[in-house]
Amino acid sequence: MTVGEVLRGDRPSLARDILAAKVNGVPVDLSAVLTENAVVEPLTFASPEGREVYRHSSTHIMAQAVKEVFPSVQVTIGPALEEGFYYDFAFERPFTPEDLEKIEARALEIIKADRPFTRMDMPRQQGVGFFKERGEAYKVEIIEHFDDPMVSLYDQGGFIDLCRGPHLPSTGRVGAFKLLSTGGAYWRGDERNPMLQRIYGTSFPTKAELDAHLAKLEEIKRRDHRKLGKELDLITIQDEVGPGLVLWHPKGALVRLLIENFWREQHLKQGYELVYSPHVARLDLWKTSGHVDYYRENMFVPMNVEGSEYQLKPMNCPFHIMIYKSHLRSYRDLPIRYGELGTVYRYERTGVLHGLLRVRGFTQDDAHLFCRPDQIEHEVSRVLDFTFFMLKTFGFSEFEVYVSTRPDKAVGSPEKWAQATGALEAALKGRGVAYQIDPGEGVFYGPKIDIKIKDVLGRAWQCSTVQVDFNNPERFDLSYTGEDGKAHQPIMIHRALLGSIERFFGILVEHYAGAFPTWLAPVQAKILPITDKQRDYADSILARLRSSGARAEIDGRNEKIGFKIREAEKAKIPYMVVVGDREMESGTVSVRGRSGSNLGTMPVEGMVDLLNKDIAKTMQPA
Ligand SMILES: [Zn+2]
Ligand SMILES: [Zn+2]
Repeated sequence: MTVGEVLRGDRPSLARDILAAKVNGVPVDLSAVLTENAVVEPLTFASPEGREVYRHSSTHIMAQAVKEVFPSVQVTIGPALEEGFYYDFAFERPFTPEDLEKIEARALEIIKADRPFTRMDMPRQQGVGFFKERGEAYKVEIIEHFDDPMVSLYDQGGFIDLCRGPHLPSTGRVGAFKLLSTGGAYWRGDERNPMLQRIYGTSFPTKAELDAHLAKLEEIKRRDHRKLGKELDLITIQDEVGPGLVLWHPKGALVRLLIENFWREQHLKQGYELVYSPHVARLDLWKTSGHVDYYRENMFVPMNVEGSEYQLKPMNCPFHIMIYKSHLRSYRDLPIRYGELGTVYRYERTGVLHGLLRVRGFTQDDAHLFCRPDQIEHEVSRVLDFTFFMLKTFGFSEFEVYVSTRPDKAVGSPEKWAQATGALEAALKGRGVAYQIDPGEGVFYGPKIDIKIKDVLGRAWQCSTVQVDFNNPERFDLSYTGEDGKAHQPIMIHRALLGSIERFFGILVEHYAGAFPTWLAPVQAKILPITDKQRDYADSILARLRSSGARAEIDGRNEKIGFKIREAEKAKIPYMVVVGDREMESGTVSVRGRSGSNLGTMPVEGMVDLLNKDIAKTMQPA
């Protein structure tokens, strides 16, 4: 009996929803034969594993279509993604939009033909021969790296691909299918290898689900911080300056300043001491910290200064450690909390750079806490409260929290790990925060808590991290004098609340689609005189708004009022203050919100009040 027969027998009405199955926890095709008593579970589109089978089968369909339209391509690999799939092809040129249309049309025919996916198992060497004969050099290379004596191939009617499976029973099970975009990718992600041509696509059971997904992709494009960054004149990244290096234009810089001011103010309130450290330092510092051994590929090459090597800093930690070490410390001094908006430089490969989200120079909202082992839980609890307060203030209210535990390669005794991991979990439980365990995903030097925020489109972004470190206190020989008069080693906690200012700013731009809450808006009110006649009156309003602390500007250009309003709306300015003869005579202003709402005519003092109340409101956590 096949797995499919067993499952369909149990649930005839759901037969069409069942895509594949798990037998004793292992994903298999529905056509797999059941040879023993086993636990059989159906996989449907509702589960991540079911979706993976669905998208993964879809990418085989795309590969077949590409091979049929362009017989000279060689196939490489094609994994499922969370919301779709891609496949990398060796082809002499990038695929064009017209190519995609042809490929998509062909794929739809393959789906319509409802060809079964048939599995064939063969000895590895035979598999090598099979793909050699067909000129598929990449597949040959993949198989040659396998350890298994057997390999599996899947036939979907004329197109045979190397794959572990499982797949859908047939191509016709794909409901709605769409190719989305193309790109380049190096074979095995290595820039020394040939460039391949990648095609992205997605598939869903119904057209309605696909349409909803496409609408979301459009919304993501509309909110793209690289596009809005340019349109709103916030930031640029220019090739003449260097990839991954950010220029903050006045409006973006102002938002950054507001974020940083708020950050510093709150850190002082929370009992942190703020420090500054240099951007370069002796390489020896990073030899001691272990970065030269463990992190070198992400560091810029050192520079030689007067015969010794200096390094552009990839991390702030060693500097804070050296400040700690500059005095003798007693148990009474702990905890010590050093905070710094510290700019670091990391060598990220060109291919992974992405707007503000992945850059080469960025400012961590960094802090290092030095404490006694018995203080970990309390300190972590405080950091958690602080983190949620900060993130909520910036408008995020949904979080995903992970605790990463001891990896195979780790420093510090299992007892130390157990105590620190226990302290992290206790802090989360004490705060009533739900979390998941990421087994073995801790950094080699200690366990950590990672917090992801969910943006308005439901996308999760990793921002905050709290990491316990047993390693650096040892390497830098840190100590404090205990109550017993003897030297003890402090625990170090690395933490960032926003992650990096650049990345957080990029996330903020996308979360708000550039329409920052009033307290963060670079320009909060734009005064729009209808003609030159009201210019003096407009100037007096500007002076009044500025004296109340508001960020206001005048659009004094000789343009139609409708045009000025549209421009201010496009610039996403929260308030437009329109003044004509009527307003001037009565000492009032007409106020519009950026969403086009008419807030009415009010005295100038009413406008000042409105603005101040709005600013105060948005300074509170959402
Ligand atoms: Zn496959
Ligand atoms: Zn650190």
